[in-house]
Amino acid sequence: SIILGIESSCDDTSAAIIQGNKILSNIAANQEIHNEYGGVVPELASRAHQQNIIPVVQKSVSKANIQQKDISAIGFTRGPGLLGSLLVGTSFAKSLAMSLNVPLIEVNHLQAHILAHFIDDANPTPPNFPFLCLTVSGGHTMIAVVKDYFDMEIIGKTIDDAAGEAFDKIGKIFGLDYPAGPIIDRLSKLGNKDAFQFNKPRIDNYNYSFSGIKTSVLYFIQKEVKKNPDFIKENLNDLCASVQKTLVEILMNKLEKAAKELNINEVAIAGGVSANSGLREAMLINAEKFGWNIYIPKFEYTTDNAAMIAMVAKLKFDRGEFADLSVSATSRYDIEESFKKDVQITD
Ligand code: ATP
Ligand code: FE
Repeated sequence: SIILGIESSCDDTSAAIIQGNKILSNIAANQEIHNEYGGVVPELASRAHQQNIIPVVQKSVSKANIQQKDISAIGFTRGPGLLGSLLVGTSFAKSLAMSLNVPLIEVNHLQAHILAHFIDDANPTPPNFPFLCLTVSGGHTMIAVVKDYFDMEIIGKTIDDAAGEAFDKIGKIFGLDYPAGPIIDRLSKLGNKDAFQFNKPRIDNYNYSFSGIKTSVLYFIQKEVKKNPDFIKENLNDLCASVQKTLVEILMNKLEKAAKELNINEVAIAGGVSANSGLREAMLINAEKFGWNIYIPKFEYTTDNAAMIAMVAKLKFDRGEFADLSVSATSRYDIEESFKKDVQITD
């Protein structure tokens, strides 16, 4: 089968072609327009998707060296995400499926971040079930026990901000551009991670909280800047390194707790923040320390991309799980919910 995947949940318009588990093309148009606003502006995102979607899909087809008529099915992100953005991808996928007369497959974006690990060049070897997957992105932070492709249990998630959001908001306090995550990562390498101490939340279960550290950084900065207006400038690298160290520790503590208590040593990370070098290093250390088999997907499959959407669509195609043309985009969409939805099962 040759499947087209379409992703438009936030600010990246992306299209990919998958054949088997192999990605033939993975094209993305990133929307720079939001950088000057310090965050994604939904109306602008939706309009940019409308401008980008046709050229991006065309490019994915030509780069894959196939023709539109070779496409066996079309997968698209149904949710979660920004409704206006999702609608562009959903409507486009529907009309193309109709005109090509091929089945339509709806994909849960969060499940796709996790199943990106099964793209053939995502890892040297794919994870073995059951595995733990820490998904860390701009909108989500959660630990899943992945028992099978379509059997996952979310055992913990953030009760306030997502990890990526914490990176971005703290970066904003430092005066960094949006998205600040990659910038903090880069500057951290030049700083001393033990220069400043920030409190970590105390929560017993596998849940996360990031609003506390954000507030404590804000108060700390306000206090220091009053004494020295150049405090941020003079300490930026150390501030970034200390914040990154703390955020990574918060993330890893729960993952370690889950691995130990559930006795699972197959451990994966997914989502945009899994590009973070501190988190990757912590995973490598734990692989040694606890004998984990770790899975860190290739960078291009971590941030929003259509390859992961195409991957899930392929798995659903093999199961004959097709969506009706009446399927609608949904801004909220739990992974567990996507396993018991209104699909048509055909044989
Ligand atoms: P969701 O998948 O929850 O809908 P999203 O699609 O916006 O959210 P992703 O594209 O997966 O999220 O990830 C974007 C986030 O990842 C941003 O918050 C960004 O700052 C963060 N990020 C990207 N690279 C890094 C890095 N190297 N270090 C830290 N954070 C990073
Ligand atoms: Fe995402």
